[in-house]
Amino acid sequence: MSDKGKIIEEIAGKIKSGEIQPWKVESVLLEEYGMNSPEHFRTAALIRRRLIEGLTGYTFNYLELPEKPYLMQWRCPKDNSIWHLEARDQDTVCSRCGSQLEPYGTEIDRFRPLANNYIGGSEEYYSYAGQIKVFGDVNKTFTNILAYGTGFGTLGISVGCFRVNKLGGAEIKVSKWAGATRNLGYVFESEEERERGVEAVKEYLPTLRKEMEEKYLAEFSGEIYEVEFVRRQHHGQCYLYICFHTRFEHARGHGDTSAAVGFARGRFDAKFKEMGIAYVQSLIAMGFDGDLKPSPRNRRGRYVSARVKLPISEYEKMSKTNIDSLLTYMEIDRQGVTQEQGHFLYSGMGGEIIPAIYRGTKVNPRPYNVSCTENVYVKIKGEDLIYGVELPNLEAGAASSREGLICPAAREVLKFMGIGTSREFAAVTAAITLAGEFNFTLLHLRGEMYASS
Ligand SMILES: [Zn+2]
Repeated sequence: MSDKGKIIEEIAGKIKSGEIQPWKVESVLLEEYGMNSPEHFRTAALIRRRLIEGLTGYTFNYLELPEKPYLMQWRCPKDNSIWHLEARDQDTVCSRCGSQLEPYGTEIDRFRPLANNYIGGSEEYYSYAGQIKVFGDVNKTFTNILAYGTGFGTLGISVGCFRVNKLGGAEIKVSKWAGATRNLGYVFESEEERERGVEAVKEYLPTLRKEMEEKYLAEFSGEIYEVEFVRRQHHGQCYLYICFHTRFEHARGHGDTSAAVGFARGRFDAKFKEMGIAYVQSLIAMGFDGDLKPSPRNRRGRYVSARVKLPISEYEKMSKTNIDSLLTYMEIDRQGVTQEQGHFLYSGMGGEIIPAIYRGTKVNPRPYNVSCTENVYVKIKGEDLIYGVELPNLEAGAASSREGLICPAAREVLKFMGIGTSREFAAVTAAITLAGEFNFTLLHLRGEMYASS
């Protein structure tokens, strides 16, 4: 084995035994092994990759590690703007004024890692964020490989997972089915004509529903569990929404549901024509199902919840404050989201944590901010504190489907993490979110968040 190979094995072993923390590898290489900057960034990433391979038994094949996995700092001589660019980036022109950027900082300190705990990836920067133990509906220890974006680092998650594991892990409740919803909209000129339409649909539904399931949903073991009728009006126009709610055990089901409902529309149009029921217009009513718009009507996704339990006295010691401060902190956050927004979307930090998981695993082709909402809560039970997060509508299909491929690097990440099913995806997402929130809350209570001296 080469000298470098030996160093990699040695330090990976020390991280595994807890002797070195994974985020300290860069400084250990510089200070104890005399390695030069910026070459040490690549070795540090290799060490963490070796650690993850050892922990999981898999080998990296697709998640690439660039030759120069670090950023460089530049400055525009004209407007003084500071630029952090990946070392591979050849475009060093200021996009504000067109000037050629100049190196910023000394030859050593103008380099920075692409992300804390970086382990690979060139369009998404992947980080190692420790392991998380879950029990309950899913029993497993997951290895956290997350894609981080602007403004969000890994350390809070790593530390949070460490804390939750020490308390015994996260208890998980995850629902059996994931839901999907798609609506039809029909416009009539009178309420009487609309009622004729409702009667015709109700009569035809048992036959049509079976056909929709066989043609579009059976492939992914999906079913229509409810069809709902909603009546609305707009200045003399009578609307009828026909809402198809579907559920799937393993698939995400959104695209399949859309296809089935599009098929139903054609059938209803023909039925109405045949029966002489006059409608002005028929359409897929996108807005009404909360599609890409989280709303109280949203029935998409799967419910999952994660929580951790500990004695109140232990929490008071950890947070260096009393339990009333925690309850007040939670209430301030709750009021902020429920009263100011009108309904909750993300309480806590989920709006940043959850995308890091979706971006890394790419199990959902939709925008990340609507792939799941989040609710953080605390409860007192006797002498214990329960700290929990619930994700009421987490959307995920861990297998490729007609809704789109999952690229090889993301499939590899799923495998390394230990995710084989959508329920496992749900479990680890809730547990990582819990760990991050738990740690952030502690930092806030201690006054250590955004603190400067
Ligand atoms: Zn400029």
